[in-house]
Amino acid sequence: MRNAALVRPVPVLFVVLFAVSAASARGQTADIGSRLLQDPAVRAAVDSARADEARTIEDQIRLCEVPAPPFKEAARATVYADAFRAAGLQNVRIDREGNVLGVRPGRSARPNLVFSAHLDTVFPEDTRVTVTRKGNVLHGPGIGDDCRGLAVLLSIVRALDRAKVQTPGTITFVGTVGEEGLGDLRGVKALFNETLKGQIDRFVSIDGTGLGISHIAVGSLRYRVAFKGPGGHSYGAFGIANPIHALGRAMAAIADLQVPASPKTTFNVGRIGGGTSVNAIAFEAWMEVDMRSIDEKELRALDARFRRAVEQAVVAENARWNQNSPVTVEMTLVGDRPAGSTPAGSAIVEAAVSVTRALGLAARLDEGSTDSNVPMSLKIPAVTIDGGGRGTGSHSLEETFDTTNSWQGTQRALLLAVALAQ
Ligand SMILES: [Zn+2]
Repeated sequence: MRNAALVRPVPVLFVVLFAVSAASARGQTADIGSRLLQDPAVRAAVDSARADEARTIEDQIRLCEVPAPPFKEAARATVYADAFRAAGLQNVRIDREGNVLGVRPGRSARPNLVFSAHLDTVFPEDTRVTVTRKGNVLHGPGIGDDCRGLAVLLSIVRALDRAKVQTPGTITFVGTVGEEGLGDLRGVKALFNETLKGQIDRFVSIDGTGLGISHIAVGSLRYRVAFKGPGGHSYGAFGIANPIHALGRAMAAIADLQVPASPKTTFNVGRIGGGTSVNAIAFEAWMEVDMRSIDEKELRALDARFRRAVEQAVVAENARWNQNSPVTVEMTLVGDRPAGSTPAGSAIVEAAVSVTRALGLAARLDEGSTDSNVPMSLKIPAVTIDGGGRGTGSHSLEETFDTTNSWQGTQRALLLAVALAQ
């Protein structure tokens, strides 16, 4: 998902200005949007994307009513693969990880642009996924994040075909699995490390609503940390090391960690648990910890200090009691999303800004944690763009998507696809 709260208005303005001035200095991709719109075929495709928006919204609803819980995206993947085939994509397949791929060949195989959206949701298996509609507003879990992206990909394929747009490079359309939460980007990781290893030149993910362009990938590391000991009666066994006390020591040390404001680096103990009774020394206590940074080096440095804090807490708790029934700790990495960025002055970001402005829309750069984290960490040009419309309540059962002018997002995505398949 994209996190709207991550948007930083003031630096963003600066970055946009920087992007535009750097582009005009080089004159490379700064005007690609307006130049492409002068091509009658591209213009026809852009117009057709708008005319087709009702069908795009129908697809959005239809796909969203097929459940896609974490690690169980297969049903939606099958429906999506069928939609790829119906749209005329070639070599449609589902890879080992569960990603759906379909190819729209260009005049040559390279550059190969991957245009993607994610299949999975954050919602468990038994969630009611019916979509309801009131006026312009759709209600349903996942309706914006990321059924919108999935539907826009299909619309791009149809519009390019109707207008007979032939691109020099090839576009591979992909529905990825495992973008959310504990999915830990498993789909896009498999795409880059296995399925299309060495064959992706540019990458765009459509994820989120609105019209933002995300070029900074917030990396994260997430742990489940479990402290264990023999446990016992709070009075009778008093004097043995206590897993909850060890947890408390670790948390106090983590709370005191210093991190830089820039590059922004954060930590959070998000959940804790353990113990069985007020009058029992616990045999287990656990916490879940999330650490983030837009800088991979800072993230790794914080990780090392966090681990040291946990280990020292265990040593201190055991030293306090000096008994032969010590507390032990197990740190399980449950999330590893690499940090990265695509420079604001790079061709792909310039192209995204250019096509947005060519359509008379305001370009806004921001940051996020999405499938683009993986290519950005590999230094492969990548951006994540919003799919248009307006969304609320992402990751909640009350998620909504306002379709007012949502065609703008479809047009922008389409024009970007053409601009990057050159
Ligand atoms: Zn998402």
